[in-house]
Amino acid sequence: MTTINKVAVIGAGVMGAGIAAHVANAGIPVVLLDIVPKEGGNRNAIAEGAVARMLKADPAPFMSKGAAKLITVGNTEDHLDLLAECDWIVEAVIERLDIKQALYARIDAVRKPGSVVSSNTSTIPLENLLAGLSDGFAADFCITHFFNPPRYMRLLEVVGGAKTKAQALAVVSDFADRRLGKSVVRCKDRPGFIANRLGVFWLQAAVIEAIDAGLNVEDADAIIGRPMGIPKTGVFALLDLVGLDLMPHVIGSMTQELPVSDAFHRINRPVPVVEKMIADGFTGRKGKGGFYRINREKNRAKEAIDLTTGEYRDQRRADVAAVKEAGRSLAKLFDHDSAHGAYAWAVMGPTLAYACALVGDAADDIESIDEAMRLGYNWKFGPFELIDQVGAAWFTAKLQASGWPLPQILTLAAGRPFYRVENGIRQVLGANGAYGDLVRPDGVLMLADIKLKSSPVLKNGSAALWDIGDGVACFEFTSKMNALDPETMDLLGKSIRRVKRDFKALVIYNEGSNFSVGANLGLALFAANIAAWTEIEAMVANGQATYRALKYAPFPVVAAPSGMALGGGCEILLHADAIQAHAETYTGLVEVGVGLIPGWGGCTEMLARWQALGRLPKGPMPAIGKVFETISTATIAKSAAEAQELLILRPGDGITMNRYRLLADAKAKALALVDGYQPPQPPVFTLPGATAKVALNMAVAGFQRMGKATPHDGVVSGALAGILSGGETDVTETVDEDGLLDLERQAFMTLVRHPDSLARIEHMLMTGKPLRN
Ligand code: NAD
Repeated sequence: MTTINKVAVIGAGVMGAGIAAHVANAGIPVVLLDIVPKEGGNRNAIAEGAVARMLKADPAPFMSKGAAKLITVGNTEDHLDLLAECDWIVEAVIERLDIKQALYARIDAVRKPGSVVSSNTSTIPLENLLAGLSDGFAADFCITHFFNPPRYMRLLEVVGGAKTKAQALAVVSDFADRRLGKSVVRCKDRPGFIANRLGVFWLQAAVIEAIDAGLNVEDADAIIGRPMGIPKTGVFALLDLVGLDLMPHVIGSMTQELPVSDAFHRINRPVPVVEKMIADGFTGRKGKGGFYRINREKNRAKEAIDLTTGEYRDQRRADVAAVKEAGRSLAKLFDHDSAHGAYAWAVMGPTLAYACALVGDAADDIESIDEAMRLGYNWKFGPFELIDQVGAAWFTAKLQASGWPLPQILTLAAGRPFYRVENGIRQVLGANGAYGDLVRPDGVLMLADIKLKSSPVLKNGSAALWDIGDGVACFEFTSKMNALDPETMDLLGKSIRRVKRDFKALVIYNEGSNFSVGANLGLALFAANIAAWTEIEAMVANGQATYRALKYAPFPVVAAPSGMALGGGCEILLHADAIQAHAETYTGLVEVGVGLIPGWGGCTEMLARWQALGRLPKGPMPAIGKVFETISTATIAKSAAEAQELLILRPGDGITMNRYRLLADAKAKALALVDGYQPPQPPVFTLPGATAKVALNMAVAGFQRMGKATPHDGVVSGALAGILSGGETDVTETVDEDGLLDLERQAFMTLVRHPDSLARIEHMLMTGKPLRN
């Protein structure tokens, strides 16, 4: 078997259902089976119910509701024969060896030869799972450990056994990488694999040390969180999120399976406070509350557990001078002469040392351990990157002074960094003590790598232009949150001229967590507050002109977003010849949320798309109505698939599941457009003018009467209706792009002067949330 065309998932619980949804997200048909309910009735009720629940869940397991149609539900008594059509069978039933083994025997009897079978087990060693099963089964068997939720967590740990065929591992790994977008990390058959082995050590150390030091949970989370690039949920809020009751299983298996010499036994001990919480149902957010809770009986008061008494008390603000005084220096925090500094070290010293001890035990190399913690626990930096921040020599000395045994890799490093850059190439220290180049897989191109070995072609404070090879240039936003400002437009204008002269094609791409949050609102508000209307109008006109120059440039432009691409960040996508979007792209024209309308060609481009491509009834109104609805409600596509439904992505545009493969895919798409490239023809619109405007305004007035639209929504929607209806025109005339862009600009200028729009902008800047005035 060389490719996977159909998948089966057995067990439709939290993980199995989520895995099935994600396979469907990749466009692959999937069979989802669970047991027949004991209480009788619908024999497929469990799997069917799981799909129904997922269609309502937030965050959504499906990238598009339509994907659910790719799932065939059933039960393991009536439908096991469906497995015969599947190339990969994922077992995700409850964590019980006897149940899993009994199931494997039944799967083996019906599966097609060469199909891969894998378990999603978190704790059971592969060897135990295979006990008593045939060699033929073992050759096709491995562990594929997904993280929860499967759509969003990018890590996939893959474990092969002594008998597993290399081909089976290769096929599943390749499918997981390219089709499911996972970063595949190979692990050894050790308890907890990599991420949970280290993650559970870290969590357990943090809980026990906090209790021993008499700290409160707020301070502990503020220390073991942001300062280390760890999500602000830190330790206790993270446990609330994943569920306290999940811990005992992994801890139990690590306690039982790890040799007595393992450092886990040094830090681990029973924690009565937590045991009592679990026994009483305080298992975190899904239970009655966790270390933190909202007390509904006390007027929704925010409370936290006192670790000493086990009782809830009012939540406090974290107060940690050590973090403030250490600034950005992790070494200063670890050395800070206070209980908080001591806590930071007492948790992270042993945790980072444990990461070192996993080299050769749980993983072959240090990058796998770093990647596992970055993607499995959302750490910004892996443990070895953290050690490099304080310096391996400093870390070694402090560890020795603390009396902690020195792991071998630290001795081998002998004070040298784990990562270094040589001749513009990132290198990593191998388990043998020698450095080797970090080699990216085929089809992976990272701007970060290009930056190490070259200088930008052009650059200013908000953007840069890079040569990414083969005649393709890459335009990168570099401002805070990749917000767009006059400097961005200025460099984009210059880049267009430069690409025309020296390159064949342009890709717009960056490696920030968000492609762009849109125009820099702070700047707009500042200009409005000093009544710099001429300057604001120039900003709008300049943005329109630059985006138009991009659209009609004599070379192909491919925009490659990932994360948020909002407002002006969405409008730049609309002006590209093609989009190659990461599957996790969140995009939309959200300007009405701040009392404005899309003024950089967004209204015009959306109208052109719906007129040309929307499968709508004849006449101008259906397209106008669709665009009006999308923009006036600030609709955001919550995936690239949803962006297709909104026509932000057109039929020829592409979706890349794996974040690491986005730039290479976008570059290939741009190069494919080079031969015989012709800029697009400008659209011409036939619009009804006043009659359409009246109709749209009536609709908004209706929403206002129902209380679904606020007074200022009416004003903003009215301005939008003015643009989309085409202004002073009727169906016997045509309006060109210039005409619509003029309407956009005029409407924008009217709204930006409106005090209620300014109040919305200010509120958004202060709170990050829209004001409903
Ligand atoms: P769950 O309890 O939510 O779901 C288990 C499902 O398996 C249930 O729907 C149950 O009806 C079904 N089931 C039980 N026996 C079965 C059988 N014989 N045939 C078919 N279905 C059967 O559990 P989960 O959290 O989804 O965990 C599933 C697996 O994934 C476990 O091995 C677990 O260790 C692992 N895992 C869980 C997580 C997590 O965060 N929950 C993360 C990674 C791995």
